Amino acid sequence: MKELNTKLLVIGAGPGGYVAAIRAGQLKVPTVLVEGAQVGGTCLNIGCIPSKALIHAARAFEQAVQQAGKSPIGIRVQKPTLDIAQTVHWKDGIVKKLTGGVSALCRKAGVEVVQGWARVDDGKTVTVQTKDGESVRIRCEHLLIATGSEPTEIPTMPFGGAVISSTEALSPTEVPKRLVVVGAGYIGLELGMAYRKLGSEVTVVEMAPQILPRYDAELTKPVLDALKHQGITLHLGYSVEGYDKARGVHVRGGGADEFALPADRVLVAVGRKPHVQGFGLEGLQLSMDGRHIAVDARCSTSMNGVWAIGDVTGEPMLAHRAMAQGVVVAEQIAGEKRRFEPMAIPAVCFTDPEIVVVGHTPESAKEAGIDAIHAQFPFAANGRAMTLESTVGFVRVVARRDNHLILGWHAVGADVSELSAAFGQSIEMGARLEDVADTIHAHPTLGEAVQEAALRALGHALHV
Ligand code: FAD
Ligand code: NAD
Repeated sequence: MKELNTKLLVIGAGPGGYVAAIRAGQLKVPTVLVEGAQVGGTCLNIGCIPSKALIHAARAFEQAVQQAGKSPIGIRVQKPTLDIAQTVHWKDGIVKKLTGGVSALCRKAGVEVVQGWARVDDGKTVTVQTKDGESVRIRCEHLLIATGSEPTEIPTMPFGGAVISSTEALSPTEVPKRLVVVGAGYIGLELGMAYRKLGSEVTVVEMAPQILPRYDAELTKPVLDALKHQGITLHLGYSVEGYDKARGVHVRGGGADEFALPADRVLVAVGRKPHVQGFGLEGLQLSMDGRHIAVDARCSTSMNGVWAIGDVTGEPMLAHRAMAQGVVVAEQIAGEKRRFEPMAIPAVCFTDPEIVVVGHTPESAKEAGIDAIHAQFPFAANGRAMTLESTVGFVRVVARRDNHLILGWHAVGADVSELSAAFGQSIEMGARLEDVADTIHAHPTLGEAVQEAALRALGHALHV
């Protein structure tokens, strides 16, 4: 058996693990990164990037279809068609370019990448079964668990055949005629809306009484309107009990209300579970927080020298959180004093319109006992939004009443994901409403709605 010794051993090359490894390598920490599937993890291969590519392709196709109808802009095109095999090929090309880039960055940072599934022997030893059948025993001073998460199954309708997870939904061989989506969360709505644009009849079944239950109703209303406008059928407050090919998806409401939905494909998107079992981790008997590995503000587990980051440490299960935790761990192993204590972690839902949430909402500020004010500015009053043919939505700001310290930003509208950087920076830097209101924002941009929301909270918006 081949033997390796290193200072840092990272299991999992998703955004958490590969960023930790690259940063450690930059700081001259001898680092080995082990990956069983593909470098880039869920995010680059079967998550963030391919889903955004498919969403973009669906939007481009929808625009072409709309232009073939009555385009108010005056563009005239013949009936467009979709070559889904080419769409998937294009998406795979982006994934390949990015994952190849990550491998190159690891090499540049001096990180040794070992391809194979890791088994944890103890807190300082891991055995890897490599793809070419060889076993490698790796000894380390620090072990970082970054093994991510996997889709949750509904026990009565396991994945297989017509019942698919996001992974299969991102590589379709054809556009299904009837798609039933279980779960109106991030994945269900992002991909459900994309498939509707690609031509599927889409029905969404959600257990909770509202879509995107993590967000407040004011923010989700424009998305709800868009779903209805797109012709997506919604069953809110209904739970899915099973599936059979003849009848379709079995759905049950609160009372005795029960029916079946015929389906060619069923996309189950009811959450993800941390990948903590089946590779010897149980043997370390780490303290857990429910199903997740419990970590402190340093991302240290209950065992000295064993660290954990990313989805395996629980919510929010987002790539940028995993990356930020990865940097914090790498810099500590290099001898720096670091903690993972962000003021806010932005969350974006790439529906159409998009939603961005950063920091406190009016309700969460109230629950935290903070005397806060809030204001919103509608895109209907923003010139740039009109030129982009999308005036739905708004920007909302939440600030302390006494000193106007900004506590939260939220937006819903076309392409508002790009506002998340400004939102996050203003909160991290402790900006007040006056700081944003007095900053000159370029005209005409969607960002002017950010300045106007701050002005409105101060009582003197200019354009509404
Ligand atoms: P992962 O990316 O899951 O990587 C873990 C890696 O560890 C995997 O490659 C796995 O093969 C490997 N591994 C596991 N066990 C072993 C072992 N024993 N040995 C060797 N290797 C192992 N987040 C966003 O922020 N924005 C988005 O737009 C977004 N969109 C998403 C869309 C979809 C469809 C999905 C499914 C997720 C999306 N996410 C998004 C979530 C995001 O992908 C995750 O939060 C992120 O990938 C977590 O990173 P991670 O490093 O913790 O784990
Ligand atoms: P989610 O938690 O966002 O949504 C799951 C939904 O399924 C919930 O609304 C829940 O009420 C519903 N549900 C659960 N059981 C059900 C049942 N039996 N019948 C009907 N509805 C049911 O989870 P997801 O959409 O699977 O996404 C998983 C994770 O991936 C997210 O939590 C997020 O962290 C990450 N993600 C992020 C993005 C992004 O950042 N844009 C995109 C996709 C995924």
